[in-house]
Amino acid sequence: MLKINNLHASIEGKSILKGLNLEVKAGEVHAIMGPNGAGKSTMANVIAGKEEYEVTDGIIELNGEDISELAPEERAHNGVFLSFQYPVEIPGVSVTNFIKTAINETRKAKGLEDMPAKDMLKMIREKSELLEIDRKFLSRSLNEGFSGGEKKRNEIFQMAMLEPKLAILDETDSGLDIDALRIVANGVNKLKSKDNAVVVITHYQRLLDYIVPDFVHVLYDGKIVKTGDASLALELEAKGYDWIKQELV
Ligand code: ADP
Ligand code: MG
Ligand code: MG
Repeated sequence: MLKINNLHASIEGKSILKGLNLEVKAGEVHAIMGPNGAGKSTMANVIAGKEEYEVTDGIIELNGEDISELAPEERAHNGVFLSFQYPVEIPGVSVTNFIKTAINETRKAKGLEDMPAKDMLKMIREKSELLEIDRKFLSRSLNEGFSGGEKKRNEIFQMAMLEPKLAILDETDSGLDIDALRIVANGVNKLKSKDNAVVVITHYQRLLDYIVPDFVHVLYDGKIVKTGDASLALELEAKGYDWIKQELV
């Protein structure tokens, strides 16, 4: 699914990713952990193709195709989803209307007609039931006055509707309460399948009490320096990151 090899990237001339390797197969959930400033969000943004970042070396392959030259929208159309891609407040545009537009834009890019309204409604109904999202929420203005938990609900709903091949969730917000964590975790657990893959970036172990990852990676100083199973997250929680620094010396 995703294969990153020797990725180097910089922002404003400052080198952030320094030879990152990561392979994610369909059906897998990977957690990326690491101290603040290690480059986790940079990695997510570079995979999604954010233009502020300069890729100076390495390759990013999605299903065997090099995507590193594609624009962010093209990567999205190829099935890459990054949380907080659409964090804007849009008064007067509902959660539902926004996602309808996003889906039809994606179809248009692939030369397809708009999804018939009946199918769209059916999909909205199925996905919102799966995620236990109520109708009132779907008709609210996008992100306007949303709480942390509601923002997460919207994000997970977008992910459910867009059915990405590769979903990257960057849980940067240290203020996430337990409800918001549960929304993210339930969403990931319900949406994961043998055909997609999820990369969850988190600073905190507690999200991984609810999502059991197949692999946990430690990103440190622009590289993945350690990989393990879910127990590595518990070890990091107990011991912090210093022991990893010492192993590297
Ligand atoms: P993490 O998500 O692991 O906390 P980031 O990827 O956000 O780390 O940041 C890695 C490094 O890149 C930090 O030193 C940060 O200050 C720097 N950085 C990130 N974004 C920018 C930016 N837009 N401009 C300048 N420096 C940035
Ligand atoms: Mg940070
Ligand atoms: Mg970050």
